[in-house]
Amino acid sequence: MLGLMQDWPLLIHRVIDHAASQFGPREVVSRSIEGPIHRTDYARVRERSLRVAQRLARDGVVNGDRVATLAWNTWRHLESWYGITGIGAIYHTVNPRLFPEQIVWIMNHAEDRVVMTDLTFVPLLEALADRLPKVERYIVFTDGAHMPATKLRNAVAYEDWLAEADGDFRWTSFDEKTAAGLCYTSGTTGNPKGVLYSHRSNVLHSMSLSNADAFGLSSRASILPVVPLFHANSWSLAFSCPMYGAKMVMPGMRLDGASLFELMEAEKVTMAAGVPTVWLMLLQYMQKEGKRLSTVERMLIGGSACPRAMIEAFERDYGIDVVHAWGMTEMSPVGSCGAVKAQLADVAGDALIDLKAKQGFAFFGVEMKITDDAGKSLPWDGKTFGRLKVAGFAVTKGYYGVDNAGLLDDEGFFDTGDVATIDANGYMQITDRSKDVIKSGGEWISSIDLENLAVGHPDVAEAAVIGVAHPRWDERPLLVVVPKEGRVIQRDDVLKFMEGKIAKWWMPDDVQAVAEIPHTATGKINKLKLRETFSSYKLPTA
Ligand code: AMP
Repeated sequence: MLGLMQDWPLLIHRVIDHAASQFGPREVVSRSIEGPIHRTDYARVRERSLRVAQRLARDGVVNGDRVATLAWNTWRHLESWYGITGIGAIYHTVNPRLFPEQIVWIMNHAEDRVVMTDLTFVPLLEALADRLPKVERYIVFTDGAHMPATKLRNAVAYEDWLAEADGDFRWTSFDEKTAAGLCYTSGTTGNPKGVLYSHRSNVLHSMSLSNADAFGLSSRASILPVVPLFHANSWSLAFSCPMYGAKMVMPGMRLDGASLFELMEAEKVTMAAGVPTVWLMLLQYMQKEGKRLSTVERMLIGGSACPRAMIEAFERDYGIDVVHAWGMTEMSPVGSCGAVKAQLADVAGDALIDLKAKQGFAFFGVEMKITDDAGKSLPWDGKTFGRLKVAGFAVTKGYYGVDNAGLLDDEGFFDTGDVATIDANGYMQITDRSKDVIKSGGEWISSIDLENLAVGHPDVAEAAVIGVAHPRWDERPLLVVVPKEGRVIQRDDVLKFMEGKIAKWWMPDDVQAVAEIPHTATGKINKLKLRETFSSYKLPTA
């Protein structure tokens, strides 16, 4: 027998409808790309999103079409997501920090029809446009007065384009499993892979993640999402903030410590979310200037491991509660959060910092297990580590447009590629990655790509790249090379050889020549061993 309750499809535009009706005057404040602080509210965001939807429909965009956004966190970017999804089209977030070749590859793979972008990225797109034949129109997030002269196809200033719609429009209706967002993740090998979120997965993820032990949102909160909309679905904040009526404070492109501090104070931010690298800059600024945040209660830190020292600094020196979160693009993206459970309420001092340094526990909607290589589940004892696998309503079951055979295990779990322990209280801790990507400032650098490039140098026999700790960027790549017989490797010569073939920020910070690179039993480079060897290595840039 089926229940007799209404079907009420979990569609993203219901979120902005709710925000407008319940939290209409709640503000969305942005540092605009043009410079000044811009203020709007949920009622107006809804009204303008509806016009985005109407205007896109007039341009011929239909259900299932991909619309790329290449933009910083601002109110216009937020409106575009609601407008795009409101007609069943798909926001495809493009990460401007990717190497141009990768941007071209993913935009062509996604077959984006329209690109919405900030002024900042017009020159980049101009350089790539010849190789983006499917793009029919470029919409620049600015007004007529700031619109640059550009040869981009059918380019138009967003405000002019939007002014052509009167808002007399209704959201379209479709199945809640309809695709809503597309975000590519760059793995260690092969091409980037597209994670395709649905309306249902985004809505459920936002609802679940907002519980008090995780993001803890409410209409009294004022949230600063430093985490970009273009990376990992903005940790769902583009949906959860309007859903719960939290004020949004969008930093635009100025992410340095001083700019963030100023914005947090001016807008009475109570909670901020971002990667450790960003918070390091903020901490350094506060320490140097002897300043304190007066309204911030909680920092959400994730994307890469939050250093213990950072947790200590926020908690002890500034009295700010740190919530360490873990997740990945494939999980919409958050999988666990580090709030303190009731049975651990007595934990204090160093033990509390240790607890918070773990990546937290899975909230409702995320199932976790750790297994050995044969897929056998391992105990939750805080010591045994294994492959971390997950299942849930906001976890991917397949990448966009590729063969996904074997992606999930027999029980439907997705292998995160991370290696972790889980303790008896359910707290997970990442111990290593099965992939050996280097995390620099919250972004990925593929060690394998760098190795492949380095071995192209005439004097290099073998190359391995590992991440070495860096005070500002978390990790930076160290290139370890074995010279060909009778050859001598010059550091600068190798770096020069790599220059221009990869994004600048992918360049190794140093090169070390060794007689031999250690290998595992199956002939793979033994990165664990290599990392041990260079564990106290100081990069020249550190
Ligand atoms: P991305 O899809 O770019 O967000 O990257 C996801 C990966 O980042 C995960 O699989 C982890 O390897 C890593 N990661 C994310 N959050 C954390 C964290 N809190 N601690 C350690 N690693 C993390």
